[in-house]
Amino acid sequence: AKQSGRNQAHFFTAAMQEQANQRMTLEQDLRQALARDQLEVYYQPIMSGRTRSIKGVEALLRWHHPERGPIPPDHFIPLAEETGLIGEIGRWVLDTACAQVAHWRSQGWPLYLSVNISERQRELGLNDKCVATALEQNDLPAHVLMLEITEGLLLQDSEDTLNWLQGFKALGVSLAIDDFGTGYSSLSYLKRFPVDTLKIDREFINDLDSDRYAHSLVKAIISMAASLDLRLVAEGVETEQQCKTLLDQQCVLMQGFLFCRPLPAADLTDWLASQPS
Ligand code: C2E
Ligand code: CA
Ligand code: CA
Ligand code: CA
Repeated sequence: AKQSGRNQAHFFTAAMQEQANQRMTLEQDLRQALARDQLEVYYQPIMSGRTRSIKGVEALLRWHHPERGPIPPDHFIPLAEETGLIGEIGRWVLDTACAQVAHWRSQGWPLYLSVNISERQRELGLNDKCVATALEQNDLPAHVLMLEITEGLLLQDSEDTLNWLQGFKALGVSLAIDDFGTGYSSLSYLKRFPVDTLKIDREFINDLDSDRYAHSLVKAIISMAASLDLRLVAEGVETEQQCKTLLDQQCVLMQGFLFCRPLPAADLTDWLASQPS
């Protein structure tokens, strides 16, 4: 028994070592990713479920790893945050997406742009000046930009966060709470922070028509948003039934595979051209 215990311990150590090595390699690769042109911004349409016309796009980061293939953001953004690389990467996403959306707008598509930002980016120096510069360089009015933050950030209820967000708000950009409904214990922060949009998490949309709890929760979020004068976007809409249920509840803006998956800029340009005008 002792022997096998020792082997097991040895096994776990080797596995942990292997994991640590992999992480270090991944970290080194991520450091090179920007310079080697392996990062790409994809765009997913945000639609009016009612008219089926596009209103905006969300910028979603992709990493094309030369050996491992595409790595989903959920796998490398945490690493980018730990290492601080999200500072540089996040600024690149903002600049790239602003330039792309300015281009689409000049082609006659009056789209707004949604960009994900995290608290870590505040610590790494992303601020209202960076955003103002990105907008100016691309001749974009501030109201075109929406910044998406997660709920967890507001639950910490810090003065730094408040000032940070107020800086953006003062520019005239919109602020959305991403994955809304997944983490809250108190909604009082909605009053304290200058947010104007809630994005209903796709977990609830997924269960909308099968789970009474999810249905009630979405209904409650929609009526709360209406009474607090907050805009709403439903995420992860995959079926006509979900779209219909949301429209019945007066939730009009939606994003999801029912309409379009996130696409590279060139493919989204083709998709735009194929839309009925
Ligand atoms: P998110 O901001 O909640 O983005 C929405 C995610 O839902 C995207 O995953 C999108 O591909 C996926 N999605 C959209 N419609 C549907 C649908 O109908 N069904 C299903 N099952 N999924 C749908 P993605 O692109 O893998 O991004 C994952 C997360 O990574 C994002 O979640 C966001 O939190 C983060 N992320 C992506 N890009 C950036 C970025 O530039 N900066 C930061 N800080 N985070 C980012
Ligand atoms: Ca988002
Ligand atoms: Ca989300
Ligand atoms: Ca998410």
